[in-house]
Amino acid sequence: MNKYDKKVRVRLRAAIQVICFIFFPSVFTAAFSGVKYIFTRIGAGEAVGLTSFTSVLIALCIYTFVFGRFFCGFACAFGSFGDAVHALYVTVCKKLKKKPVKLSEIWAKRLTFLKYAVLALIVLACFGGVYSQMQGISPWDVFSMLRAGNFALGGYIPGLAVLLLLLIGMCVQERFFCRFFCPMGAVFSLLPVLPLFSLCRDRENCIKGCSGCTKKCPSGIELVPQDAPAAQGNCFMCLKCIDTCPKGNIHCGLPGLKGNELWLTLMRAAALLLLFLWLGI
Ligand code: SF4
Ligand code: SF4
Ligand code: SF4
Repeated sequence: MNKYDKKVRVRLRAAIQVICFIFFPSVFTAAFSGVKYIFTRIGAGEAVGLTSFTSVLIALCIYTFVFGRFFCGFACAFGSFGDAVHALYVTVCKKLKKKPVKLSEIWAKRLTFLKYAVLALIVLACFGGVYSQMQGISPWDVFSMLRAGNFALGGYIPGLAVLLLLLIGMCVQERFFCRFFCPMGAVFSLLPVLPLFSLCRDRENCIKGCSGCTKKCPSGIELVPQDAPAAQGNCFMCLKCIDTCPKGNIHCGLPGLKGNELWLTLMRAAALLLLFLWLGI
């Protein structure tokens, strides 16, 4: 693998994450407000309109269908926040010469299904018209308030407690919230992705016994060969597997595009930026 390419990709991802964190911090909450709005209206027997929230939700879902979960891997403020917390924890452990505590992959695989339960619970609460009574427990609301410099958290103490628990989880497991609890992640993971951007690996070129890409993957995904279509809804499109593989075996869907992952990343980032601007986020 070309080390220069890896360096460029890692820096590009960090730059996109920082830019999106600063300029587009509320996209994930806007999209999820769209989900809540839809089920609240359906539960109340009222018509579902095209609000700014539903527009963001629909646009992000279409984007994810075409480009995969690039939004999650590169642009979601809460996902980036989790990445920063985890990176800080690992760095501190290294400095202290301690082995970072890590959730076992067996437990991680089991907990992956929790996000669907969280989504179902919220959808049911919206449908039953009782979601407003749960609002103070949302860690997303607390995060958004803190991110905006609003520290009047009086009615959000339970949400603050949940956020603090999530912080611990983010330390011991990369993408802890995204993988196990995010209801918006549950929605994204159920969407199909066009094969152009889904990832696959040239298994026949793999080093014997190697599983470096799966170990590095924050979602614990075992990539499949080109000709074996796989459900990749849990792939955050962070591209860390590509950066890990010493043989350069991992690439985006179409064989003719192999080696152009950097350009495809730039293209997806540009498309997402245009989408944000079009939506007026
Ligand atoms: S899974 Fe949820 S929190 Fe994580 S990056 Fe995606 S939308 Fe954001
Ligand atoms: S490491 Fe690869 S397979 Fe795993 S989430 Fe990131 S892009 Fe997807
Ligand atoms: S890191 Fe590369 S060589 Fe190792 S299993 Fe993954 S694709 Fe194969």
